Amino acid sequence: MSQVVYITLEPSESDRVDDVPKRQPHWVHPNLIESVDPVKGRQIRASDLIPKGTRVLVDHPYAIIPVVDEPAANEDLICSNPACNRQSPRHLGRFLCSNACIPDVAWCSSTCRDADKARHDFECTWLKRYAQPIRNKWGEYDFGMLWLIVRLLASRDRDPHGENVAPKTQQWKYGWSGIASLCGSSDTWSHEQVRSWTTLVKKYLRDSPVLPHGLTVDRVLHLICQEEANSFGLYPRETGIFPPPHPPVDRGEQYAAAVYPTAAIANHSCMPNLIHKPDQDGHMVFTASRDILPGQECCISYFDLTKYTDLTSRREHLRKSFRFICQCERCISEEPAKETNEWTSMPMMDI
Ligand SMILES: [Zn+2]
Ligand SMILES: [Zn+2]
Ligand SMILES: [Zn+2]
Repeated sequence: MSQVVYITLEPSESDRVDDVPKRQPHWVHPNLIESVDPVKGRQIRASDLIPKGTRVLVDHPYAIIPVVDEPAANEDLICSNPACNRQSPRHLGRFLCSNACIPDVAWCSSTCRDADKARHDFECTWLKRYAQPIRNKWGEYDFGMLWLIVRLLASRDRDPHGENVAPKTQQWKYGWSGIASLCGSSDTWSHEQVRSWTTLVKKYLRDSPVLPHGLTVDRVLHLICQEEANSFGLYPRETGIFPPPHPPVDRGEQYAAAVYPTAAIANHSCMPNLIHKPDQDGHMVFTASRDILPGQECCISYFDLTKYTDLTSRREHLRKSFRFICQCERCISEEPAKETNEWTSMPMMDI
């Protein structure tokens, strides 16, 4: 038997301008399984021991947008090419859209821009026509949400069945079928919220020559409900270190938001056994922060644990932003003796 030695070379800065990195496949640790809990729904479990420090999941975003102030001047802006998504510092030179749609769209090299042409064409006219009016009328949050939906539709348009990114494994769903199976529906959100999203869909996301997707208004509304329940914010430092370090180190400034078909299955705990952090290419990486025993659920934290520390503030934040009352081990143990709560679990992600 011959011995194979793998050597990994770190790309140098000069490589950046010429090479579009190959899109990395999703990777799931063999001891990780998806199961369904009667109360919590879909979840991730360990089928066998996962030692502390083990990398358990690397998931590629199905759609990702930059979230930065003043993009033209911001050093954290990411390359728009989904096969790259590296942060593209201004001093290394950026390549902008020839149609000058919005300054948030930039590529780290002309190779990245050219390779991304067909995908960007899907969103370019929409961005040019609607980005500024939406920002002016509805604000940055709603613009980001709608743009993320447009990028989900662009990925679907490029690869409707998820065939290009789907390793043929048994249980994990990838690509559009992974997105379609995410939790989240209009029942999860307040009527007022759903009404507002319906208005946005009818005004900006209808199937049209500007945005040809072939889906009904209801399906796009459902997609917003799914996206809002499952998208991740991308931050430069880890989320979910428990117990939080002293002095506290927060996760830093958000620079992007993304939807990950597999990472989205992880439920929340206020004492998670996984930490999560995006790598330099926008992949979401989960790492075991302690030994995880066979059968145990693998959870992340949906928020920065250094920011909400006591039971009341954690539950209030989760109720408002993620629409459930947390019943994790830590919350239960910190409950005053008489408190009882309705358990309405919804796996959702931070944005
Ligand atoms: Zn790039
Ligand atoms: Zn453009
Ligand atoms: Zn909790």
